[in-house]
Amino acid sequence: MRLSHRLDKLPPYLFVEINRKIAEKRAKGEDVLSFAIGDPDIPTPDYIIDRLCRAAQDPSNHRYPETSGLPELCLAIAKWYQRRFGVELDVSKEVLPLIGSKEGIGHISFCFIDTGDIALVPDPSYPVYSMSTLLAGGEPYYMPLKEENGFLPDFTVIPAAVAKKAKLLWLNYPNNPTGATAEPIFFKMAVDFAKKHNLAICHDAPYTEVAYDGYKPSSFMQVPGAKEVGIEFHSLSKTYNMTGWRIGMAVGNAQMLDALFRLKSNLDSGIPQAIQIAAIEALNGPSYFTEKQNAVYQRRRDKLVKALNEIGLKATPPKASFYVWGRVPPGYTSIQFATELLDKANVAVTPGVGYGSVGEGYVRFSLTLPDERLDDGIRRLLLWSKSAR
Ligand SMILES: *Cc1c(COP(=O)(O)O)cnc(C)c1O
Repeated sequence: MRLSHRLDKLPPYLFVEINRKIAEKRAKGEDVLSFAIGDPDIPTPDYIIDRLCRAAQDPSNHRYPETSGLPELCLAIAKWYQRRFGVELDVSKEVLPLIGSKEGIGHISFCFIDTGDIALVPDPSYPVYSMSTLLAGGEPYYMPLKEENGFLPDFTVIPAAVAKKAKLLWLNYPNNPTGATAEPIFFKMAVDFAKKHNLAICHDAPYTEVAYDGYKPSSFMQVPGAKEVGIEFHSLSKTYNMTGWRIGMAVGNAQMLDALFRLKSNLDSGIPQAIQIAAIEALNGPSYFTEKQNAVYQRRRDKLVKALNEIGLKATPPKASFYVWGRVPPGYTSIQFATELLDKANVAVTPGVGYGSVGEGYVRFSLTLPDERLDDGIRRLLLWSKSAR
């Protein structure tokens, strides 16, 4: 058989070697402690699961759902945006439920990118922005996220010829992997830049509810003009610990959402209806759960950041997201440092270079592991550091 050339565009997986080592150690019965996975350890709240179970028992939810999603779900999403951000959305055309936001992020590239087209993609970033660009036949143009710029891209240094040729602009705040946040004034600059160059903006925002010290992240949709040029991806995954249930949404520009809907309606048949009903329950539900959960992450964040600085990584506590982005000690690449921690401390972290070349020199720690595991991980790191000196 002959596979498509499209698949050859996907770069080789960088962490083959590290993952092989982890599998080998685990096969030998060693306890590898992982800070590498960005997936909440806390279960989905009971009231959401109870609703899901009841919905699963109703035969009307056993049939094909509509790709456009239940009208009640679209309404719950619109109301949630209204309540949380003061953003008004037209339920009939400015809301599109997704099978997890990753699904929409992957598919939207196929609505905009033809062979040779450019998408502006942050470096480092969630890999799906660049991979979907490549699969659609396009070229990512990487915008470096530098620490001295607060991990925000600098639109003024993008060459005019690139901006002219680009069709999509990807942004993600609160940011994975850096934990950086963006204020409305930055989003306004992005809107102006997009208008000037006739670009469509995709803002990926699954972490707006994971925030600390009383900070409330903004939505891209809050700035004037956002709806004219862009959409925002959001998700129930990180807010309600629903990564396994696969449900998210895109909101904003009606033309972009219609394009995504037209593509999707030929590829998928929507989100299982019982899960949509559980999502309605989640979105309409109380917010005290989020506050309680953020207090847990915040406590973990503070312990971890303190320990990392003690062992020679430079890390600042993130205001949002559940990631700590640490600069590795001098003399190591990010892969060398991750390998050292794995070999000597049985601790797995994600090398920053996996998110783009500008991520070199950093490693990402996730806070989504139970407290006693996190404490154990910190103990291992401190022990490693003592023996390494
Ligand atoms: C987790 C994550 C997603 C994917 O979320 P799903 O809704 O579960 O598909 C998208 N973007 C970023 C940056 C993420 O970290």
